[in-house]
Amino acid sequence: MNVRAYRELNLKKGATEMEIKAAFRKLAKEHHPDTSQGGPADVEKFRTAYQAYQALLKETQKKAKIEFSAPVSPTPFRFESQKKHGLDLYVEIALVRPLSSEFEIILPFTAHEACPRCLGQGQTLGRLNFESQIYRPQTCPKCQGQGAIGQSKHLTVKVTEPMSQRGKFRLRGAGGYLPSQAKRGDLIVTLRFVDSLPVGN
Ligand SMILES: [Zn+2]
Repeated sequence: MNVRAYRELNLKKGATEMEIKAAFRKLAKEHHPDTSQGGPADVEKFRTAYQAYQALLKETQKKAKIEFSAPVSPTPFRFESQKKHGLDLYVEIALVRPLSSEFEIILPFTAHEACPRCLGQGQTLGRLNFESQIYRPQTCPKCQGQGAIGQSKHLTVKVTEPMSQRGKFRLRGAGGYLPSQAKRGDLIVTLRFVDSLPVGN
């Protein structure tokens, strides 16, 4: 957090890129050495404003950091779409525009683990049919032959990035699960910020 830079540009913490640019433009107009008549004080003011502008711009362009933590107050959201691509799960969420650039959302999701009964094989030990001498593998009743069982969980995501219109992040290993290869997909979440969610959500 660059407290001084925000103060320098008369901005609040979490200002958007647009606000940062506008604030700098305003100060630059007032204090630019080419146009202002103020002398050294203006030059100095212009220089510090420019440094603050550069620092804040860099900060807003940092990548989203994802953390897991205990649930705090969730930001209201609504699932808009969900699609699968291989093991990866893509989810689009409409989210009420958070007041700060640091916020948490709690996502209900289903985590898949290898079925403990069939050890992810999808089949339990088969039965030999004595008449036909055919060994028939049996579908595991616990996972219905899927090899994996789903468990609904809540995932708390802490997002620390000023996101203005959209935000996208990837949660490794939170997507689908392929028991035969013990392979996990990712959960890719796209956040779309809205001013309010429809009533009755
Ligand atoms: Zn099973």
